[in-house]
Amino acid sequence: MSAQSETPYPYDAPASQALFDRASAVTPGGVNSPVRAFRAVGGTPRFMVSGRGPYLTDADGREYVDLVCSWGPMILGHAHPEVIAAVQEAVARGTSFGTPGAGEVALAEEIVARVEPVEQVRLVSSGTEATMSAIRLARGFTGRSKVIKFAGCYHGHVDALLAAAGSGVATFALPDTPGVTGAQAGDTIVLPYNDLEAVQEAFHRHPGEIACVITEASPGNMGVVPPDPGFNQGLRDACHKNGALYISDEVMTGFRTSRAGWYGVDGVKPDLMTFGKVMGGGFPAAAFGGRADVMAHLAPAGPVYQAGTLSGNPVATAAGLAQLRLLDDAAYDTVNAVSAQIQGLVGEALSKEGVAHRVQTASNMFSVFFTDRQVRDYDDARRQESFRFTAFFHSLLSNGVYLPPSSFESWFVSTAHDERAVQKIADALPAAARAAAEATA
Ligand code: PLP
Repeated sequence: MSAQSETPYPYDAPASQALFDRASAVTPGGVNSPVRAFRAVGGTPRFMVSGRGPYLTDADGREYVDLVCSWGPMILGHAHPEVIAAVQEAVARGTSFGTPGAGEVALAEEIVARVEPVEQVRLVSSGTEATMSAIRLARGFTGRSKVIKFAGCYHGHVDALLAAAGSGVATFALPDTPGVTGAQAGDTIVLPYNDLEAVQEAFHRHPGEIACVITEASPGNMGVVPPDPGFNQGLRDACHKNGALYISDEVMTGFRTSRAGWYGVDGVKPDLMTFGKVMGGGFPAAAFGGRADVMAHLAPAGPVYQAGTLSGNPVATAAGLAQLRLLDDAAYDTVNAVSAQIQGLVGEALSKEGVAHRVQTASNMFSVFFTDRQVRDYDDARRQESFRFTAFFHSLLSNGVYLPPSSFESWFVSTAHDERAVQKIADALPAAARAAAEATA
């Protein structure tokens, strides 16, 4: 039986469909991360076999301009020759030693050199591990249990943080998830994004109990919803007034929105920060770091336990380091310029068809909301006409442009998105805008 359920988008993708059928027999939902299954938009998920520059090629041999970039990491495009060379060189020396190694020192030094608030950093293997560990450290450091997070911010699938999370959780409209117990989520206070008053009130209601506030530096997991001017500074001030730590989750924005991530954009100094995606060059590498006096509480220097068999893996660190070393100011100028160009084309095409929309941006991250109102928080994001996105998405897909398969995700571009790639997007947009205009709920 076909794993694809009823869909109004029966594009011919037989090789992907065959793989999806096989996958669905052996893997829940046929995928290893929920959003990949296309449940929010319907149809057959494309199984990709290769990537080069701004393009992905699927199992049916079709080429797409990639506006997902592996959900952020591939900021130099796919298979960048210098990153590939660094990986090949590292692989030839062995793939994992379970000892300290030179590559992880160099990557840590690169992070510390780029991001001023990071005095010390610990490498891990995923963004989830980074945020989970940062929260444990904040609790260990302060001796307090409660954590403030914001609705629509996603920090990975950490039990305590899967309350009103964005990303895949937003896609499925799950307010929470079975398997997270009341005890695990009970110390999590979920507040509306961009609402400083709510934060102050929470500190007032729980004196001496709040260990930290964790926020996406600039959220991209409910679509792109940048912080209001002064919001991040207000969070930091509220934390410090109340003896809590300010944790900025830069897993998505880190080394993408500038050389120093979102910190390089707004300059608000966190106590702890988390990183992933770009710093791994397409491999599983992530990190958390910050104030040396806080990081000193981490084992083996201090009592807060944290560990990882593959942490600082030599191949992952080689890929990450090669990618970061290529990300100079000129590279960010290129990504910012191509992002602005694509934003303009999307806005123009939708306006031409009279489709209510907002293109929201945070440096070179952007997304389109199908609404005419500014989106400042998760409730606003959920009020958009997502059915228009579905039509828009499938029209672009059928014309060789690969968007995130959900209206609650950021779009990503790379230095490799050249004129040909942009032209392919420009050519596909008019029909997609028309499809969005004609879509019905
Ligand atoms: N934090 C943010 C802001 C993210 O966007 C993500 C993933 O998208 C994570 C944490 C979790 O990272 P990972 O998927 O590597 O566990």
